[in-house]
Amino acid sequence: MTAPAFTFASVGDRARGRWPEILAGLGIDPAALRNRHGPCPGCGGRDRFRFDDREIGRFYCNGGGEPVSGDGFALLQHVFDWTASEALQAVAQSLGMDSTHPPPKPAPRPPTKAPGPSRLAAYARETWLAARKDDAAVGSHPYARRKGVPWAAGAGRARASGRIIGRDSDCLIVPIRTLVGKLLAVQAINPDGAKQTFGSMGDGCLVLGNTLDARAPWIVAEGWADCASFCFHLHRGNAVAVVAFGASRLQKVAEAVAAHYAPPRVTIMEDAP
Ligand SMILES: [Zn+2]
Repeated sequence: MTAPAFTFASVGDRARGRWPEILAGLGIDPAALRNRHGPCPGCGGRDRFRFDDREIGRFYCNGGGEPVSGDGFALLQHVFDWTASEALQAVAQSLGMDSTHPPPKPAPRPPTKAPGPSRLAAYARETWLAARKDDAAVGSHPYARRKGVPWAAGAGRARASGRIIGRDSDCLIVPIRTLVGKLLAVQAINPDGAKQTFGSMGDGCLVLGNTLDARAPWIVAEGWADCASFCFHLHRGNAVAVVAFGASRLQKVAEAVAAHYAPPRVTIMEDAP
């Protein structure tokens, strides 16, 4: 074990005042990051949660009877079930604090031959945590380039191993979350475009764009690349595109999005046959 290059004090200093963007970048729904009671991005409910200090990322959640509160690091632990050091590492990474001289990041160990659901969920989480999430890294992945998406667009890039994607493959990593931002699974896409999902998707999806703008066009489509193009290329970010991760999931995800956000309309974009 080597000593960590950063501490809660040093990372907290750099994070001061930037918590909303940091937390949103790590996958917490920006709509929850307001000083107003609402559903908790970690444990749901209707109005148990508020985010009342962007300086230190302070939140309060009454947890349905078991109150929990703290700073931005504590919020990440509450929402994603991370340990304190996982939260510290994720924030440091999102601030670029450990990428100036990036240490060789060990690829998470691949699942064993017959991985159980919790093992796959853990693998999904480790992979997402280890992924680089900046535009340069993600946008230069061969799949992203081929699809004409030169930005991160909510995805990451990391090494992953699996039956479909191959061993220790340089993958685009697309997070699959609940509508309140909890990571359920990841879809790994290798340079050839082969896709493999780790973790259990449930009703998960990936919401891209500005969910605070109900007048923007809202669509649900199958894959990450189409959604990223629609949202950021066609509409310059003034749109919401939700990745359903499969044709058979379009309807279910569209219904969940309509119920959760209540935009005027949600359009399902089917792939051209
Ligand atoms: Zn909560």
